[in-house]
Amino acid sequence: METAAVIVAAGKGTRAGGDIPKQFQLLDGLPVLARTIRAFSSISEIDRVVVVVGADYLGLYRELVEPRLGAQKPEIVMGGAARSQSVLNGLAALKPGDTHMVLIHDGARPLVSRALILRVIDAAKLHQAAAPAIAVSDTLWRGADRVVTASANRAGLFRAQTPQAFALSDIVAAHKGFDGAATDDVELALAAGLAVKIVAGDEDNIKITTPADFARARRILGEGFGGQMDIRTGNGFDVHAFEAGDHVVLCGLKIPHIAALKGHSDADVAMHALTDAIYGALAAGDIGTWFPPSDAKWRGAASDIFLRHATKMTHDQGFKITHVDLTLICERPKISPHSGAMRARLAEIMGIECNRVSVKATTSERLGFTGRSEGIAAMATATLVSL
Ligand code: MG
Repeated sequence: METAAVIVAAGKGTRAGGDIPKQFQLLDGLPVLARTIRAFSSISEIDRVVVVVGADYLGLYRELVEPRLGAQKPEIVMGGAARSQSVLNGLAALKPGDTHMVLIHDGARPLVSRALILRVIDAAKLHQAAAPAIAVSDTLWRGADRVVTASANRAGLFRAQTPQAFALSDIVAAHKGFDGAATDDVELALAAGLAVKIVAGDEDNIKITTPADFARARRILGEGFGGQMDIRTGNGFDVHAFEAGDHVVLCGLKIPHIAALKGHSDADVAMHALTDAIYGALAAGDIGTWFPPSDAKWRGAASDIFLRHATKMTHDQGFKITHVDLTLICERPKISPHSGAMRARLAEIMGIECNRVSVKATTSERLGFTGRSEGIAAMATATLVSL
């Protein structure tokens, strides 16, 4: 019998600020929801992952999250008006005959650890249901108008977390028998008379709600990876000669010039150097390995297909691009008026923040082929960090 995970990410997440719901925002280079899904799909004890997404945000999911999941894509189910309806929609994707245990998890808890998930699974094998929580250690007050009106007894109080694990048939019955709004599934389970075993929660398993939670999550990620982070640096170099024409393509931008660059593709020397830097960091050959010039298919191709390929390979191998630095070497055209747009274009293709993309230029003091304006050279460095 299978063990399944239902990840609920159908909320609007407006308290976190930003233009898009929090579960799609980047946390250290990876969307929050992609991190959450990876935490479950990487565990062999979990056979199926179902993600519940708001119907309005399916496009965002496909654009931002799905490409960052590697080979294992979860099933997608549309959310409902309330959290409990969203959970029920997720549960409906599972069959009691196939799935025995289901873990229900908040999509906004991306830092859930493998150890915590396994603790919950182990406890749920021995009990009707299991969920992680942390005993309250702070003194509790009641207050009104920001004045303390009483202190409250904290004995026996816990802060609830997810994933919460149940037998599929039990939690489906609990949902169907519950009338009203519940903030989590343990509340429904209790109403249905199920005994829920508390397992040790994890202070790092925070629910991201506000911008301050994003900052805290970044700190936790920074600390957690200390000592085991895999950092790769690659460099790339490319040269293209000028030929007759009226523009060059650099970093995906068409820039008017008295000549064009000669090449098999669009001859975007800058994007080629950058793409080779990423392949270099992955020790994965170069552009010619993946897009042989002997193949007529790539004639005149826009070079962003090369950079997108290298970016996807980075993600598939469990890395993210944390920084790139690109230097163009030429007398003309002048690069500085275009460097802002170049950075934005490269950042967009790689799916990273603009402040992680450097584009600069130098001349070679009229020396050599670049000095004689026979062509343009570009060199790039890319830094990749394990996720
Ligand atoms: Mg080239």
